[in-house]
Amino acid sequence: MRKITTRAALIYTILTSLTFLVLYELTVRFSQKWYYWPACLGVYFLSALVFIFWIDYQTKLIVKLSEMAKTFSEGRITPIPFLANDDEIGELSESMQIMAENLNKNLQETLEERDRIETILASMAEGVLAFDGAGKLILMNKTAAEMLKVTWEEVANRYFLEILRNHNLSDLLKAGLTDTKRQVMEVKLAPTSPEFYRVYITPIISKESGIHGVVMVLRNITKMRLLEQMRSEFVSNVSHELRTPLTSIKGYVETLLDGALENEELSLKFLKIINNEADRLNRLISDLLYLSSLETGRMEVAKKTFATPQFIEKVVNIIQPVAEKKNVVIETYIHSQTKEIYGNQGMLEQVLINLLDNAVKYSPAREKVKLEIGVHEQGVYLKVSDNGIGIPAESLPRLFERFYRVDKARSRQVGGTGLGLSIVKHIVERHRGQIQVESEEQEGTTFTVILPNV
Ligand code: ADP
Repeated sequence: MRKITTRAALIYTILTSLTFLVLYELTVRFSQKWYYWPACLGVYFLSALVFIFWIDYQTKLIVKLSEMAKTFSEGRITPIPFLANDDEIGELSESMQIMAENLNKNLQETLEERDRIETILASMAEGVLAFDGAGKLILMNKTAAEMLKVTWEEVANRYFLEILRNHNLSDLLKAGLTDTKRQVMEVKLAPTSPEFYRVYITPIISKESGIHGVVMVLRNITKMRLLEQMRSEFVSNVSHELRTPLTSIKGYVETLLDGALENEELSLKFLKIINNEADRLNRLISDLLYLSSLETGRMEVAKKTFATPQFIEKVVNIIQPVAEKKNVVIETYIHSQTKEIYGNQGMLEQVLINLLDNAVKYSPAREKVKLEIGVHEQGVYLKVSDNGIGIPAESLPRLFERFYRVDKARSRQVGGTGLGLSIVKHIVERHRGQIQVESEEQEGTTFTVILPNV
């Protein structure tokens, strides 16, 4: 039998026995007295009262426990007082206490898990959205909110088309809700936007209910597309640049084979052109290889301090023959505080050779080209200026692009590859320096390279 039932039966028996005994005593001693009946009633009333109080106490305990259970079901798990009864109510309170502790532990673990997932989602570079089986939004991370330019409050529980008017994506989402395969699409979120996205839609599948939602991942692929476009433009530029001297070489060789070889003067003229074109091809290929090793980072930038005068002498000696051909004079100014330069000597020689070569190439004969080295607040500056043809203002922003030339024909005529300034820019960047250009058409151009001391 249950303890509480036994206890109730015991109390009931004791109370009825006591009542019976008291009533018996009353009957024996006071049955003739006037207060006999009121006394009997009093005894009955008292025993009933004691019983009611006991039942009421037990009921209160049950009510208390039932209220606790209700708060648990509402998710408010508060620790419950321990009722030290050694009956079923006591056992129930003990079980509920253990249950509260376990629930609290599980809840804590669930909250920690949720925080972890939220942190991961918030730190993702991809936008993540989750939709339920009806296609309503149930989750969105920060990146997705930024990509779609919405807030969670605006879009929570909304259908996709209410969030973004993109029918292609909406159809893809619908397909994801019916097909277990992952869907992928490359789209613009808005027709006028320059941004491209790759969108993945993966169904959320459970054994019991099949597809009951989808996860949409948005990845911005604009940069990747731009790089692909640049790469294909580069390949077509390179092909074009290589084809031009090759076509010219082939043309002259064919003319020679067709009979021009008989004419010694003409043959010599054509062979000189072929030789020049072959030199240009050679320069182009070396420039391309140099640029590619710079861009891929394969070329190590081993920096050290080296003496400025010897460095300048070496560079000027290389350029001098080209300058002499045009009667161009190279003047050098080295400020007294710049006896030494910190950097990769070979690479910095290439920078000055390219800049001085351009200054000579794009200057009229008998002009002066100036090379100046001095102290800058960040380190040293190397300045190459000429009084040549200058560069139009609209060309300045594109000047350092590969194969960019202001005047293609003129650049070819003077043997340019269109890669010289690109190489300069890359070397300066690998030294964490800066390059500036100032130019005035028909007045001249000044390139300034600033190199940090570290
Ligand atoms: P290129 O081999 O054609 O000289 P660069 O990359 O060295 O290629 O230069 C790109 C273009 O910038 C040149 O084609 C030329 O139009 C212009 N340019 C560079 N330096 C000068 C300069 N000192 N004066 C005038 N134009 C210049």
